[in-house]
Amino acid sequence: MKLLVTLLTMLPLAARANSVPREPPANSKEVKNVLAVFAHPDDETWVSGTLSKLAYGGLKVTPVYVTSGDAGSDYSGAKLTGQALAKIRESEALKATSALGLSIPVFLRYPDGKIDRYYSEIRDELTSIIDELEPIAVVTFGAGGITGHIDHIYVGEIASEVSRSETVHFAVSQSRAELLAQYATKHGITFKVPEPVADADITHRVDVSLRGENRINAQASYKTQFPPVMMRAFADFVNGVPTEELVIPNSSNQLEEFL
Ligand SMILES: [Zn+2]
Repeated sequence: MKLLVTLLTMLPLAARANSVPREPPANSKEVKNVLAVFAHPDDETWVSGTLSKLAYGGLKVTPVYVTSGDAGSDYSGAKLTGQALAKIRESEALKATSALGLSIPVFLRYPDGKIDRYYSEIRDELTSIIDELEPIAVVTFGAGGITGHIDHIYVGEIASEVSRSETVHFAVSQSRAELLAQYATKHGITFKVPEPVADADITHRVDVSLRGENRINAQASYKTQFPPVMMRAFADFVNGVPTEELVIPNSSNQLEEFL
């Protein structure tokens, strides 16, 4: 009985611990913004611990998805394609970013796989968002886009080009890619990071051990993107390797204190 009472007493606290405000406080001018720019819903999985850490540290982290993933595959069994898939992927991104404590995402809804045709439009839209939010950092893909996906590479290039503050490229080093492959093998699947970066090029190794649960819950939101075995492998990896890697060419103190 005592245990039950203790557990019940703890519940509200546990709930509060995972609920970060989704809206800025009234004096939003004092809130420091971070913009995180991705090609597809689920791309933030590569840097989810860092983004969650920044949000829990008091920054307002706004994700932008340039496409809603309409050209992707559906692993949920529902066999959705096109706009029907995009709609579900947006709802998955809403859940995932909420689990990480991020702000409500911005969906630009450009066609998946065709970002190169809309380079100037995307650049203009991102510039408007930056003008409005004045972020202290723009987090996005670096060269190679981790998977080599052309959308990742273009989004990283455009976001880096329009960034007027700290540009943060999330990355996977060769040694972390090897660990990821080992965890996948342990779960009976093959997973290889196509575009890891040299270990020596990583400028920041971020301890995200306190955000493991957020990362696992966020990834579990993407039922169309990750089969259950991948979710299990990722959860295992998150617990075993609680570090994420960044390449920040011109590091300033603005972001440093939150990493
Ligand atoms: Zn992607």
